[in-house]
Amino acid sequence: MKFFLPYWEDWVHRDFDPITDTYSGGYENSLFAHEIFKPPPYDGILLSLGMFEFKLKLLKVNGRPTIRGVENVKEYLRVDSLGLPVMGDCGAFTYVNEKEPLLSVDEAVKTYSLLGFDYGISVDHICSDVILVEKGKEGEFSYKSKKRSRGKVKIELSEDELEFRRQISLENGEEFLKKAKGFHPVGAAQGYSVETYTDSVGNLIDMGYDFIALGGLVPRRTEFIAELLLTLKKKGLLKKARFHLLGVLRRELLPLMRDLSIYSFDSASYLRKAWLKAAKNYLGVDGNWYSSIRVPDCKNPRLRNKARELPLNVEEMERRILKGLRAYDRGELKDYGELLEEIIAYDRLFLRNEFKEERYRELYRELLESKIWKKCSCPVCRELGVDVVIFRGADRNRRRGFHNVYIFYKEFCSLNSNSGNRLEKLPEKK
Ligand SMILES: [Zn+2]
Repeated sequence: MKFFLPYWEDWVHRDFDPITDTYSGGYENSLFAHEIFKPPPYDGILLSLGMFEFKLKLLKVNGRPTIRGVENVKEYLRVDSLGLPVMGDCGAFTYVNEKEPLLSVDEAVKTYSLLGFDYGISVDHICSDVILVEKGKEGEFSYKSKKRSRGKVKIELSEDELEFRRQISLENGEEFLKKAKGFHPVGAAQGYSVETYTDSVGNLIDMGYDFIALGGLVPRRTEFIAELLLTLKKKGLLKKARFHLLGVLRRELLPLMRDLSIYSFDSASYLRKAWLKAAKNYLGVDGNWYSSIRVPDCKNPRLRNKARELPLNVEEMERRILKGLRAYDRGELKDYGELLEEIIAYDRLFLRNEFKEERYRELYRELLESKIWKKCSCPVCRELGVDVVIFRGADRNRRRGFHNVYIFYKEFCSLNSNSGNRLEKLPEKK
């Protein structure tokens, strides 16, 4: 089984210095997780075309799409020499609130092919039970119920509407397979019940697909996914194609996925937890999640605007905390009690909504007491030391995310060690 890491412009600066908090340049000074860890802590990269809408502009030079001036996605990601395959998907979640996909089959085929993707997933539409639309737009849909939500309207789609989306995905799948050239086509199966998913998979196999991506499973319960996989096995469908699970990483599901010979899955959850979750930012070598210590940059204008009047010595407070943490890391500061109170007092100044003093005091105490970052021998933890558990700026936070992916991947490889499919050859291009 293979693990793909979704890519969302998650690179760090090569020359980042945590002590001076400086770095230079942009993409030309980029460092990817697969350049820090040898071997890379994943078997492939999933890149969503939806990302071009939000983060990366796809510029056309003489009619050819380019990413930051590079014409080939594998060259852009610098993965060719590592043998890491790149899979593309249409980013169906970015247009889930629309009547139909915003991307045509022709556009998707052209983009995958010109940018040199190894695999391209067909243009699908998620059968999401609930969507959020602008007021007045709900008339375009057939729905069971609606309610106002954050200035928009939340509607619960009828089964007819869900079926309409599933049929769009299948029709697109058929056209996509006929047109795909220069990459290996992957058929996206959508559904809104085990039966409809199974039917979609059967249809895609009949069309001629030998690789199928199960989409729209992210909000589904683990029991649902398990039942779906077992049904596909029972119907003999698992043997007829390779299967990829889009965005699904459930630790408890991995043994079943391995036993059923699921080919691959992807998830960014371990990466993003590093900066999205309040309490679970750093995955320890002991398998437990730890918080990271918030030491915001007091010069950050966005933070300054939200804060009440800051004391004149705020910069001094910040400097003392960072120095204190590093002294503790080196073993020069035995008792962290005073330092912990300074950290809490400093964070209190910024009045952040999510800041719950008592809770953080406990989480920080647990982290400091454990010194868990010192037990990890990965290149990120060795290079950053205590800075890996300091929540401050993208260069630290993303590196912490890379560490989390590495810890996950180690666990995954030991679970996976019997299957030995890491060395399996890529399927032939069409
Ligand atoms: Zn580490």
